[in-house]
Amino acid sequence: MKVVLIPGDGIGPEIAQSVQTVSDALHTGIVFETYQAGADYYQKSGKLMQDGLYEAIEQAGYALKGPTATPIGTGFRSINVQIRQHFSAYANLRPVHNMPGVKTRYDNVDLVIVRENTEDLYRGIEYMYDADTAHGIKVITREGSLRIARFAFDYARSHHRHKVTCVHKANIMKLTDGMFREAFYQAAKDYPDIEANDVIVDAFCMKVVTDPSQFDVVVSENLYGDIISDLCAGLVGGLGFAPSANISDTVKVYEAVHGSAPDIAGKDLANPCAILMALGMLLEDAGMDDKAQLLKNAIRDLLEEGTYRTRDLGGTAGTKAFTKALAERIESGK
Ligand code: NAD
Repeated sequence: MKVVLIPGDGIGPEIAQSVQTVSDALHTGIVFETYQAGADYYQKSGKLMQDGLYEAIEQAGYALKGPTATPIGTGFRSINVQIRQHFSAYANLRPVHNMPGVKTRYDNVDLVIVRENTEDLYRGIEYMYDADTAHGIKVITREGSLRIARFAFDYARSHHRHKVTCVHKANIMKLTDGMFREAFYQAAKDYPDIEANDVIVDAFCMKVVTDPSQFDVVVSENLYGDIISDLCAGLVGGLGFAPSANISDTVKVYEAVHGSAPDIAGKDLANPCAILMALGMLLEDAGMDDKAQLLKNAIRDLLEEGTYRTRDLGGTAGTKAFTKALAERIESGK
């Protein structure tokens, strides 16, 4: 099968190389078609992304994306937002769970965040009302809210999960968040086998850092979803272990949640686990469950064994050495 690979900026090319190496070790048969996009490519070519990128993703149906930098205050539009909007990738899926050998405050974290990916304040409708007043418009539709709620319940059902929690701020934003919450409970009626409840976003933050085990699948709007995803990633050792999938009706774009890490780019210091876990999500969705499981186990075992750890985990292994050790472990069938 073909998968579009976008290495992106900063540490992107280094972790994209890890993807290629590990995919080969797994004998996935995936042929990666590499396309350039991001700030580096823009500097070289004056274009945000290589011509034909959208068409290639459409054809393959799957893409794996490295981080792309978005310079602040330059008018440069985020490649992520553009890809999500182009394909109407309405669901952003972020599983969050502990990794062995990665010491964190809790050892019982296992939840999945489903973030609505196309609406809310991220629609980018902003304007100057007058010279000293900027307005940003929050857009929530009933259709979009129902669609993401159903996605969350379907995901829960197909992954043997038991509860979906809607996170919102409907006590203050009665029309927008009120409708999001209402649509959630409307959708819930079709899933009587799954428990449905809701919590206000500030209370969610307090609860999840106090006792993460009380959450299973969590569904939220774009902005809250963005923030709580990183909050939850912090619960399991940071961005080094946070993969995500952007899902539309026609394509799936997988990525690591972290950014281009310019401070460590080109230094062989990046932890490639998040993008490799994103590859694992892709393999599962593409029906290669056995290979996904092999990859998951190899990452877990390698981390647990502890010889190879990247610097963010207190180790000294470089990206290449970690990747090589992982590929060898996979090939040896350990
Ligand atoms: P960042 O995630 O790039 O870095 C935050 C910190 O985490 C840095 O200290 C970095 O070294 C570290 N880090 C991140 N990933 C790591 C990894 N795999 N291994 C080891 N350490 C890692 O966040 P930032 O500095 O706020 O953003 C840098 C650029 O990335 C910005 O231009 C931003 O717009 C972009 N960004 C892109 C994406 C994406 O494309 N999905 C997501 C977030 C940020």
